[in-house]
Amino acid sequence: EFELYFQPKVDLLSLQVVGAEALIRWHRAGYGMVPPDVFIPLAEESGLITKISQWVAKQAIEACKSWHNLGLQHITVAINLSEVDFRRGNLPQKLLNYLSDAQLAPHYLELELTESMIIDDVSHVQRQIQQLHAKGVSLAIDDFGTGYSNLGYLSKFNVSSLKIDQSFIKNLDESEHDYHIVKAIIQMGQSLGIAIVAEGIENDVVAQKLKKLNCQFGQGYLWSKPLNNDEFIA
Ligand code: C2E
Ligand code: CA
Ligand code: CA
Repeated sequence: EFELYFQPKVDLLSLQVVGAEALIRWHRAGYGMVPPDVFIPLAEESGLITKISQWVAKQAIEACKSWHNLGLQHITVAINLSEVDFRRGNLPQKLLNYLSDAQLAPHYLELELTESMIIDDVSHVQRQIQQLHAKGVSLAIDDFGTGYSNLGYLSKFNVSSLKIDQSFIKNLDESEHDYHIVKAIIQMGQSLGIAIVAEGIENDVVAQKLKKLNCQFGQGYLWSKPLNNDEFIA
């Protein structure tokens, strides 16, 4: 009943699709769609998330390889992970196995983690992230700006991108306050050599503002909702 959807990540200058974020969907028989916000927290509590994340990772890696085989060669794929996924310690080996089974180079895979997952540390998370980074897998900080922002972890974890939380992007066309926060995050990213992705871009005014601020990448309904694999390829 699970299906993996993909939302394109767009280069704000060229408007090319450079990657996709994998987002899980549950089509529950006799009920309809259960949103991930509802069942992911329950899966984390019960420990079932470990199996779900492995399924997501394998599907996402295989899909990415299939896009490359269709000639969409530069596209990367990002998956969302939970802290629970790191508890057993075998996540790096699993991910590297899926990559090698699919013959996909590790630098096409990005892991999205939230700030709290790596700050509360949790040295076991750190060790596994470093193991994966050494093989070429990259790390993105999801929902950036909503955690405690002890920014020391940015260099410690070799973070390659920051995804600015939707709550700052949503009202960028109206809120001066949000505009200055977003501007500061983008400037910080530039000085540290960390790519910036703005999430939740719904209109062109916001996209143009972000482009003027030199934000590199964006995601949002302006371009596309998350799509099933066939729709994403099209
Ligand atoms: P997230 O990782 O922050 O994902 C972004 C969410 O924002 C997605 O909701 C996406 O559909 C939505 N979104 C994208 N563009 C826009 C926009 O322009 N406007 C608005 N209003 N929303 C937009 P979704 O797919 O319902 O996922 C919700 C959350 O569930 C995700 O937030 C993530 O934390 C979690 N999640 C989804 N799939 C997975 C998964 O495979 N594993 C894990 N651990 N968590 C997942
Ligand atoms: Ca995410
Ligand atoms: Ca997010």
